[in-house]
Parts: sequence; structure tokens; C-alpha cells
Amino acid sequence: HLDFAEKIANRLGAHIREQVVHAVDHVSFDVGQGEVVGLVGESGCGKSTLGRVVAGIHPQSDGHVYYRDRDVAAVRAGEGAEAKRYALGVQMIFQDPFASLNPRLRVRDIVGEAPRVHGLVDEGSSLDDYVDDVMRRVGLDPAFKRRYPHQFSGGQRQRIGIARALAVKPEFLVCDEAVAALDVSIQAQVLNLFMDLRADLDLTYLFISHDLSVVEHLSDRVVIMYLGRVVEIAPTPDLFAAPNHPYTQALLEQVPRIDGRKKAFTPIKGEIPSPLDPPPGCHFHPRCPHAMDRCRVERPASKPVGAGRLSACHLNDTA
Ligand code: SF4
Ligand code: MG
Repeated sequence: HLDFAEKIANRLGAHIREQVVHAVDHVSFDVGQGEVVGLVGESGCGKSTLGRVVAGIHPQSDGHVYYRDRDVAAVRAGEGAEAKRYALGVQMIFQDPFASLNPRLRVRDIVGEAPRVHGLVDEGSSLDDYVDDVMRRVGLDPAFKRRYPHQFSGGQRQRIGIARALAVKPEFLVCDEAVAALDVSIQAQVLNLFMDLRADLDLTYLFISHDLSVVEHLSDRVVIMYLGRVVEIAPTPDLFAAPNHPYTQALLEQVPRIDGRKKAFTPIKGEIPSPLDPPPGCHFHPRCPHAMDRCRVERPASKPVGAGRLSACHLNDTA
């Protein structure tokens, strides 16, 4: 039983241009076993930092991430089975697989290296058979395992990145803009692959994207971030049917609908403020069509707005 809980009760730091920015501020949410949580926001909102903290490749300055009810910082500081289990159990998939694939290694070695090092290949079977299995699982022909990354298309390279992650038998995948660099038709194929893998391997995902339409069909729940804060959390159908937070509403306005409810593209007014110097009160107030005096000075608390739903907006007090 995987009891993944990720609670960042405090602050996580990121160093940007020699200044310490609190990229993620009072963020708290859980991801349940087998669940797909979409984490959505514009660039600079801190979602990548949060994903990297969860995956254990970005240090947390303070705050806590819990995995199976254990504080990840403590787990990672230790050695032995538990630290290894976390290091292998949580894998990250990036936007640009080409940048994260060693160009001088053949696919066989990219996919086979970690299973070899960690002794994951069963006795009596070969590393080649192991690699072939993983390649087939992600829709790559094992006949190409002696090729180098540059000999594959963008979509195939992302499959290689996914194969490398799956090769260590993870239970939790953090995908950061994992389809953002791909053509729309290829995006759909890779998203379908993620869904198939979820069903076959009982995987849990934190799926980070700037694009709500990417997470719509993939996620059970959506977490919306704005300038380092979570502004809304809701089950995906509820969020799309009735977004509560004005920022979520504005993001949804930008999603092209294929069901005839097509709306004119209306960009969210105003620039994204610098995360170095976020506006006081509600961070969204300079861009919010409903901003009140209170919004400029008082930070809205996250409050329940329905079953399994939270939203941080002062409008919910006046409704
Ligand atoms: Fe808009 Fe105020 Fe709600 Fe912030 S708290 S989203 S500014 S209405
Ligand atoms: Mg990012």
C-alpha cells in the first residue's frame, strides 16, 4: 500500500539570479496511490521547483515532503533500502528528453544502466531481455536499441526518456512539461502512453503543465498554482465544469474547446509579476477582474468550496 503524502507546510527555496526567492510558499497537497494529479500554472509559478523537490533533485530550504508518511529529507539523508527505494521509486520525466539523454550512449545503455547498477535484472535472465521488455512497453522497437538518441524523432526520444525512468520500476512519476516540446499529434500519443502505463503498472503521477488542456484527460485532480501559491484544488471534472478561483477561470478561458463551446481567445490581462517581488495580499489582484480593496492587503486563505475542493479567494467569504 503506497501512502504517498506530500505536504509542504512551509517554504521551499530557489536561487534565482543570486537572490533567494521563495519559489513555493505554503503549498500543501497530497497525492494518493494510483492517482494522477495535474499541477498547472504559468511559467515562473514555482511548479517545476515543486516537482523537483518532490523528485528529490532540488534541495528544500525548509518545509517537508512526505513519501509513505516519511519525511523525504530524512529518508534521503540516510542510506540503505529506504533511501534507495525513494531514489528509484520516484522518477522524473522532463520536457526535453534530448537534453537529458547522454548523446554518446546507445539506447540499450541509457535504459539498461540503472537496472544493471542496482541489480534489478532477475537471475537467469539477461540485461538485453530486460531492456527489450522496457522498450516494448513504451512502444519502441527493441531492434533499435543499438542506436543513439539523435537517430530518433522527438516523440521517440521522449519514449526513451520514459523507458529510462520505467527501467528502475518506479511507483511515482513526476512529469514536468513532458509533452510540451512535441507536436500536438505526438502529444496525444505520448499522453495515451502515460495512461496505458498507469493502468498496467499502477503508477502514480504528478503531471506538471502550463496547459490545462494537457492535464484535462489525464488527471483525477488538478492543483492550480499562481506565483508560488496553490490557489485552487479540485477534482478535474468539477474544475472544468465550475472553476472557483478567478485565476482558474481565466486559465480556462484560454483553453480551446472542441465541444462547440469555443470561446474567443482572451489572454489574462496584465503581465505575470516577478516572483522576486510578488504583489501583496492576493498575488493575483493586479490581474483579477473581481479585485476588491481587501485583496490588495489581505492574503486569502485556502478554504473548502465543495467536496474535495479548496480555493483561496476572498469572494468565497462574500458569496
Ligand atoms: Fe481576485 Fe480578490 Fe479573489 Fe484574489 S482574492 S482572486 S484578487 S477576488
Ligand atoms: Mg517549468
